[in-house]
Amino acid sequence: MTTKSAAAASRATVHGYPRQGPGRELKKAVEGYWKGRVTADELHRTAARLRRDNWRQLARTGLHEVPTGDFSLYDHVLDTTVMVGAVPERHRAAAEADALDGYFAMARGTRDVAPLEMTKWFDTNYHYLVPELDPGTVFSANSGKQTGELAEAVAQGHTARPVLVGPVTYLLLAKPAPGAPGDFEPLTLLDRLLPVYAEVLADLRAAGAEWVQLDEPALVADRSPAELNAAARAYRELGALADRPKLLVASYFDRLGEALRVLAKAPVEGLAMDFTGPAAANLDDLARAGGVPGKRLIAGVVDGRNVWINDLKRSLATLVSLLGFAERVDVAPSCSLLHVPLNAAVERDIDPQIRRWLAFARQKAEEAVTLAQGLSEGTGIIAGLLAANSSALASRSSSKLTRDATVRARAAAVTEAGTRRAQPYPERAAAQRAKLKLPPLPATTIGSFPQTGELRAARADLRAGRLDAEGYDRRIAAEIREVIHFQEQAGLDVLVHGEPERSDMVQYFAEQLDGCVATQHGWVQSYGTRYVRPPIIAGDISRRAPMTVAWTRYAQEQTRRPVKGMLTGPVTMLAWSFVRDDQPEAETARQVALALRDEVADLEAAGTAVIQVDEPALRESLPLRAARRAEYLAWATESFRLATAGVRADTQIHTHMCYAEFGDILPAIDDLDADVISLEAARSHMQVADELAAAGYPREVGPGVYDIHSPRVPTADEMASLLRKGLAAIPPERLWVNPDCGLKTRGRPEVRAALENLVAAARTLRAEV
Ligand code: GLN
Ligand code: ZN
Repeated sequence: MTTKSAAAASRATVHGYPRQGPGRELKKAVEGYWKGRVTADELHRTAARLRRDNWRQLARTGLHEVPTGDFSLYDHVLDTTVMVGAVPERHRAAAEADALDGYFAMARGTRDVAPLEMTKWFDTNYHYLVPELDPGTVFSANSGKQTGELAEAVAQGHTARPVLVGPVTYLLLAKPAPGAPGDFEPLTLLDRLLPVYAEVLADLRAAGAEWVQLDEPALVADRSPAELNAAARAYRELGALADRPKLLVASYFDRLGEALRVLAKAPVEGLAMDFTGPAAANLDDLARAGGVPGKRLIAGVVDGRNVWINDLKRSLATLVSLLGFAERVDVAPSCSLLHVPLNAAVERDIDPQIRRWLAFARQKAEEAVTLAQGLSEGTGIIAGLLAANSSALASRSSSKLTRDATVRARAAAVTEAGTRRAQPYPERAAAQRAKLKLPPLPATTIGSFPQTGELRAARADLRAGRLDAEGYDRRIAAEIREVIHFQEQAGLDVLVHGEPERSDMVQYFAEQLDGCVATQHGWVQSYGTRYVRPPIIAGDISRRAPMTVAWTRYAQEQTRRPVKGMLTGPVTMLAWSFVRDDQPEAETARQVALALRDEVADLEAAGTAVIQVDEPALRESLPLRAARRAEYLAWATESFRLATAGVRADTQIHTHMCYAEFGDILPAIDDLDADVISLEAARSHMQVADELAAAGYPREVGPGVYDIHSPRVPTADEMASLLRKGLAAIPPERLWVNPDCGLKTRGRPEVRAALENLVAAARTLRAEV
């Protein structure tokens, strides 16, 4: 294939880059500052050095334009809050006394002042700090961070493009501040916000920015006509400014849909669009819209959210078909590379066969450069790279790791009947009642008990070779005995082993499944200074051996009360990993489900009467666009049932989800056909019980009565009154008593006191019914 450039040569860029540094230097500096070990000056110097190294690295890779302003000491949405002067009232004094301490106070709270709420950035695992606005919010421009970072990059000889969260997305991500009228919509503040953006843009222009990028990922979700109008107005106004840089409006994570028409017409000079995964539909949409003539198009053809090498030939074909649609076509990863680890080349422990299939941030930037080069100069110039890419892709598709015939045959043989329990729910409920003989309002917990410092130290010692496997197992066993003993004494009815052997509910299983790969340095920012190392689901999934049976059996041996088996469901395994992109997610979920199905069978055979399969990610994985939700929910619920449907009638299947708002997936929750579901409810005053009852949910429910996000110990009276609310919606024989979520992050004394109160509340209510 040879390609000819349209007008200008194609260039490569990125929308953002991992901030932490190769050794998580940023985390160390920020946490050191919090502890008083690092001065503000030292922190700023470390940050500046990390930015410099990133830009230098990107420029050496061949990027023509580096992003600035995407860097953050904590979160870029919080940076935007500072930039537009929307510091909440309760943080204002601190922010005025010291900008840096005020910034961290908003992020983390202080002894007296609550932090901003945190929530997931679209359907990624990155969490941002939610802006709080009210009808009285007065914005003011504070462009120092943006102009400062631009000046740094320019001084270092780079062509730089400042990246800001766009005004529409900023407002759509905001929530009404505490005390704001309930019907207040932050988007109504747009007219007040735009002049502030105008000022920031002018400042950036004055500081030397030719282009400024405004990120508007909110426009890829289903938007109302009013919201689309707001976007049209915003960019009409910003576009009409006299003193401004060229504007690039960036979207990612899905197709622009209706918003494409709005942005195509807007007087802005460029658009960035995602052409990966479901967003590939942008290609047809652009064709139908007649392209974006006269504009610069940055084509996101390299998936910025996964860890796999690009199919360069395919991307080139996409790029070539885009050439006619815009004035110029540049190449980039689909979104900020913040969502992937830094460098695949340093993963020495990953089999080199697999490592050649991996592309982290650094490799993705290189791919963008290669593609831009191929697009403008013809494929001859990148022939060597194309050949290497083809051979890596071929080795991936023919590898035994990605194609395990046994796994595939089994997955292909799954029938609808295999995903259905053999008995209808009422029959199962009767069998379970006869077997378990639980009191009404049985008390249980969600699984984990406090992970003490000693446990974490023991794990570190094990990894470092200071403790042998036997010694480690002895500690775990002792912990389980203690947790079981406590639950018996406290009077809980269905016990748990406490999950002391798991540092993470996904990683624990990934480590034991063939087809999964762990990284050594693959850190990805989850929020602030918290980084995770998601496992990589690289190939066909199978279970080497039972994964949880030994400890569950050990726990059961310590008590005559039932001990719940505890597993992580297929959807959550996928959501919190990097998932292979060479087959539909539904297929991968089915393989994980089959591995779990064997585990469930082994647990049952070992005498486990109650098995919980956690699916906390069921709702967060919901596609951004409603049109794609039914398909997702179909495979998500099917994989849960596939994992759990093989059991006898008298084996009780539980599931757990940690959120209170699940209205939009209610039918899916029913579709799981779990015998018991526990949900978060303490803060929302048991509203979930009403919602489930109103929807006619027929099975057993445990709406949480203990808010585990707070160190506060709820009294028995409080929990009893929540239970009375629950009982108004759900009859006593179908209501469970449990906390909102696992107790892993809490302290031991508070958990003990709270669980004793929880049992007391259950007993009070049992006496009343
Ligand atoms: N069983 C897990 C625990 O208790 C569930 C965690 C979760 O819902 N996120 O820790
Ligand atoms: Zn939970």
